[in-house]
This record gives sequence, structure tokens and C-alpha cells, in this order.
Amino acid sequence: MPKRVGRYTLRQTLGEGTFGRVKYAINEETSTEVAIKILDKHKIQQQNMGAQIKKEISIMKMVRHPNVVKLHEVLASRTKIFIVLELVTGGELFDKIVAAQRFDNTTARFYFRQLIEGVRYCHSKGIAHRDLKPENLLLDAHGDLKISDFGLSALYTGEGDDVSRTTLLHTTCGTPNYVAPEVLNDKGYDGRAADVWSCGVILYVLLAGFLPFDEPHMSALFKKIQKAEFDFPAFIKGDARDLVNRILVPDPTKRVTVDDIMAHPWFVGTDGYTPPDI
Ligand code: ADP
Ligand code: MG
Repeated sequence: MPKRVGRYTLRQTLGEGTFGRVKYAINEETSTEVAIKILDKHKIQQQNMGAQIKKEISIMKMVRHPNVVKLHEVLASRTKIFIVLELVTGGELFDKIVAAQRFDNTTARFYFRQLIEGVRYCHSKGIAHRDLKPENLLLDAHGDLKISDFGLSALYTGEGDDVSRTTLLHTTCGTPNYVAPEVLNDKGYDGRAADVWSCGVILYVLLAGFLPFDEPHMSALFKKIQKAEFDFPAFIKGDARDLVNRILVPDPTKRVTVDDIMAHPWFVGTDGYTPPDI
């Protein structure tokens, strides 16, 4: 017997997340296909589904943008939380980078624009992601980018604006390669500027095919991130290099904003790219 959750029938596993699996499911009333992320309440040390979390969910349900995975609803049992999401079938951007080794400017720009469009929209609704990385960027059947889990990191903690360092490190599985310096410093920070930093690391990865900050020891990694100590391979040049340099600035008040990014010559670049249908 397939397992039922409310009006959904759960089928195969689509992926493994930090706190549990993501399963393919069908809404039996509407025949709509969805993805359901199953979170173990103990694993995330979930506080009660308090007012704050309910508020976050209602905000996230209002998020409607072509580059953000839509959250339909959240169900709960005694031990588990079921996050019902729009189904996205094209896989992770991460796997595409690995297969391609790195992207040319045109392809990188195609994905980066969609990333920034999604980020700008969510910030305009007062939601920061806090865990942007290629593993959380999914591709749909047309090859368009969809940001997964927007706002969920805040949901995991049940806090409002401040995600503590321990929580963030936990949600990133202890490899904070994409995390902004001010987040590591554990002072109060603006989640939007921290998202911009992560977008800068993602842009670097799209163009280079490897991470700008990568050290086997956590303390060495933290130091490099805090000083924004990284090198460019020779093939990243001109406007692309300039944009990465303007984003990966340790002081969040001196970092470019989403609007600055959208006005940058590399972002505005005119050569088009149409993704192949999958
Ligand atoms: P976590 O944030 O806990 O790591 P994710 O949300 O990234 O969990 O989900 C883990 C994996 O499950 C993803 O990398 C992806 O392969 C798959 N997945 C997540 N959300 C969806 C979705 N909406 N549609 C299809 N697959 C998904
Ligand atoms: Mg993930």
C-alpha cells in the first residue's frame, strides 16, 4: 500500500535533504504532481508550530515567481513535517556544472540572471534565503532555474531575522563554502546582503567550475572567506571578473546590491541563450 499523507499519495524518492527525504507525490483530488519534503521533527529540533512559523509559511505561500519553487502547503504529523512543493523535474544545477565542468559566459549569464531575478523578487517580499548554493538551484523541464527552499532556512530555526551560526552551519552540513563572512562572524546581519554574497560564490562556480573558497580545515576556510581571499583562473576576465570582485566584498555595507548587479555590464550583456528542452 502506498503511503498517504492527507490527500497526497507518496511515491518514489526524488532526493535526500539535510533533514529528510524529498518524495514524488500525487494529489489524489486534483491529480497534480508535487514534491513533498519530509522533515523529521526531532532532527531539526523543531519548536512547536508556533505563531512565527505559521506566519513564515503564510508568507512563503504567497511567493509566486517563475524562478522560485512554489510552496503549496505544510502538513504535520506527530513526528514529521511535510512541505508540499511544486514539482521540478530537471535536476540540480550542481549536476549540470559537474557534467559541463564549467559554463561559458552566455550560459553562466542565463542561469545567473534567473537566480538574481528570483532573489530580487523574494527580497522584495521580505524573505531571505540564507542557504543559496547550486544544490538548492533546480532546473525545470524547460531548463529554467528555480530556487528551492526560499525562506525555509528561517523556517527551520523558527526565528525571525537572526539565524545563529550554529544553526546555519548545521543546515549547510558543516561546509559553509557559500556563507557570507558576516554570517560566520555571528553578529546581526542583513539576510539580503548575505544572499548577495552567496550569489557571488555561485557566479564564480558557474564560470570556474570550482569553489573560490575551499579548504579542508574549517578554520582556514573561515579565514579565507572573512578576508575574501581568492584567485581567478585566467579564463575569467573582464566584466565577469569585475562583477565577482564587487560581490565578494567582506564588508556587507560595501558589497553591491541586487539592483547594482542588475545594472552591471556583465549582467546586462546582450548575447542570448536558449536552453535545450529536456
Ligand atoms: P535540503 O535543503 O534539506 O538539502 P533540498 O530541498 O535541497 O533539501 O532537497 C533535497 C533534494 O531533493 C534536492 O537536491 C533535489 O534533488 C530534490 N528536490 C527538492 N525539492 C524538489 C522539488 N520541488 N522537485 C523535485 N525535486 C526536489
Ligand atoms: Mg538542499
